[in-house]
Amino acid sequence: MSAVTLSRPVWRRFEERFLARAAAWVRSGGHALVVRESGKLDMLLGVDERGRITEAALWSILALEQERRKKVKDGPAAGLVMARVDEHAESATLDWCERDSIHPRATRKLKFDCLECGACCHEANVILDESDLERFRRAGRPEMTTRSYIKRARDGKITLRFLKNHDGRCQNLGPDNKCFVYDCRPHNCRVFPVASEACLAARESTFGWRDGATD
Ligand code: SF4
Ligand code: SF4
Repeated sequence: MSAVTLSRPVWRRFEERFLARAAAWVRSGGHALVVRESGKLDMLLGVDERGRITEAALWSILALEQERRKKVKDGPAAGLVMARVDEHAESATLDWCERDSIHPRATRKLKFDCLECGACCHEANVILDESDLERFRRAGRPEMTTRSYIKRARDGKITLRFLKNHDGRCQNLGPDNKCFVYDCRPHNCRVFPVASEACLAARESTFGWRDGATD
């Protein structure tokens, strides 16, 4: 993919008593972190025109290795999505709000160039399934189903093997950041969303690009 300019939601933190403001922020395209009187944190997230959670919102939850969420039924946030932040993920969500506190609007435009970046192809947790392995075989790459390329955990989970002695680069990533196996790449590589929190986290951990921005 060549360079694209995309808009991403900006995180903002709100006390519970300002839930209506949090809802307005989310309806403007942002993501809100609601601090409950109990101290617990809830993510308040947007939906699309059909009432489904937005992709950016879903990937914020997945980036925390969580999935649970519910639709708010009443009150100022009715129709939006709420997800309780697990204790282990609280610092990450607070950090997103801190990172974004300098941005005044609910959304922010950023330029992304996957060929300049390749961050998500470094030491990533690329989960595979049998259909990926079958696709590798059909593409004439049976070696990609062997232990050199994949790891099988005791619980049956299959993941792509990244090599520590190559700066954690995927074995399929060329020096020009092009994927050698692009046509038969794993399903999870196909759906990984540019500009999501998972993308920003990969860019920050690999290159230290704090805001997803390269400048
Ligand atoms: S981390 Fe984001 S910008 Fe970088 S290659 Fe992956 S999807 Fe593209
Ligand atoms: S298989 Fe290709 S797209 Fe997936 S992590 Fe490796 S280099 Fe990146």
